Amino acid sequence: MAYDDQNIFAKILREEIPCNKIYEDNYVLSFYDINPQKKIHALVIPKGKYIDLDDFNKNASNEEIAGLIKGISIVAKKLGISTENGKGYRALANISEDGGQEVPHLHFHIFGGEKIGKMVS
Ligand code: AMP
Repeated sequence: MAYDDQNIFAKILREEIPCNKIYEDNYVLSFYDINPQKKIHALVIPKGKYIDLDDFNKNASNEEIAGLIKGISIVAKKLGISTENGKGYRALANISEDGGQEVPHLHFHIFGGEKIGKMVS
């Protein structure tokens, strides 16, 4: 499957539609999920055009991969829910249809601000 340039996160990256931005650097953009499932629900996405985690690990540079993984901790810290804040959170990526992925641009969900509960419901 080819990357779809018209997906909603591609449009956010091109600033064609707005987002509630939390953090940005050379590798990632982070913003609040429009339909929060927990008290804090953020998204962290790579700036490159990657459909899902498998596509990312196959085609991204080591710098991009490190940038995304580090970006998750940076965002958690900014949100006050990292272990450095004495808290914790869940980082989760849905991968393709069986994984429940709806937007075909790789993203990690960051859930926090409360006890997150069971891993899969
Ligand atoms: P997934 O099911 O893992 O693909 O998750 C897609 C997520 O994107 C959902 O949690 C949506 O609420 C969220 N979402 C969709 N459109 C937007 C948007 N314009 N801004 C922020 N989050 C969005």
